[in-house]
Amino acid sequence: MAVECENENCHAWAARDPSGILSPYKFERSFDAYNFPGQITRTVRSDDVSLRITHCGVCYADVAWTRNMLHNSMYPLVPGHEIAGVVTEVGSEVKIFKVGDHVGVGTYVNSCQDCENCNGFLENHCSKNVFTFNGVDADGSVTKGGYSSHIVVHQRYCFKIPDGYPLAKAAPLLCAGITVYTPMMRHNMKQPGKSLGVIGLGGLGHMAVKFGKAFGLKVTVFSTSESKREEATSLLGAHNFVLSSDENQMETLKGSLHFILDTTSADHPLDPYLSLLKVGGVMVLLSFPSEIKVHPANLNLGARCLSGSVTGGTKDTQEMINFCAANKIYPEIEMIKINYINEALQRLIGRDVRFRFVIDIENSFK
Ligand SMILES: [Zn+2]
Ligand SMILES: [Zn+2]
Repeated sequence: MAVECENENCHAWAARDPSGILSPYKFERSFDAYNFPGQITRTVRSDDVSLRITHCGVCYADVAWTRNMLHNSMYPLVPGHEIAGVVTEVGSEVKIFKVGDHVGVGTYVNSCQDCENCNGFLENHCSKNVFTFNGVDADGSVTKGGYSSHIVVHQRYCFKIPDGYPLAKAAPLLCAGITVYTPMMRHNMKQPGKSLGVIGLGGLGHMAVKFGKAFGLKVTVFSTSESKREEATSLLGAHNFVLSSDENQMETLKGSLHFILDTTSADHPLDPYLSLLKVGGVMVLLSFPSEIKVHPANLNLGARCLSGSVTGGTKDTQEMINFCAANKIYPEIEMIKINYINEALQRLIGRDVRFRFVIDIENSFK
């Protein structure tokens, strides 16, 4: 199986230009970029794991980079950084993974492995961190992501998915899941009985509700859309739902929350939410609105904290996956085939997804 996969071209879908339209694309992952400059990625080295991708989640990052929103896209661009699959080959030094293991790969595939951040398992903050797609790896090759049939990755950036955890549901953990989990651990939110506000109910927001409930928190969901009420309370089990435009309801919550996770990328005012925090409360920004502005009084009076966060380190990522498996936490997904991806990205832009698209990669390239 491994040899067969390595000798084949990698099947993928790629965007070719800033229109962001994806179409079928084939490339070779098995050339060694050192010896075959200009070819893409590499052979399986001693510390590498090669996996057959079975599923890949669809993240807003896929929209941003296929459409060159950050003005640094390199085409052809194969997106995807919520990867789940099965190990097909391991390098000679790899001890913790074996052929047949279920594994995941997240938002990055390399880092320097020897800086303060890497040594502290904060590889996501390493200055040499290499994104899973549209990144330039240490050998100069441009990384290609999970909308493809297989990938080769250094074992440090590969995660074990426990037996019995569905691979389709594991995929969104690798970005949405860890993006939410890491700040919750960093800010000590695992305190049963305390209160959590979640702004926005998309891929990240729905995971925030699930983790919040698993940690024993009282969860309030804030949304601009009344249509999310039923999903928030009945499907996800949030304790409270508040329309953010409802000033009366917002007023009654002033000074009542210990924590807030803000998952909304659309531009929105932060002050109405900061004022909902208790003294010493923490609000964490997980998204990328164009600009943020806060009134200093909302931080100073109440000694509140506004923080930011992006993905998580390798130790946190494995811990989060294990926590989800042990507590039966599963993302809500809509499975699609790769040939639906252009519609799916359009629907994601329109926030028309409950709550994460996952591409059935293994049945898309047959
Ligand atoms: Zn992502
Ligand atoms: Zn480093």
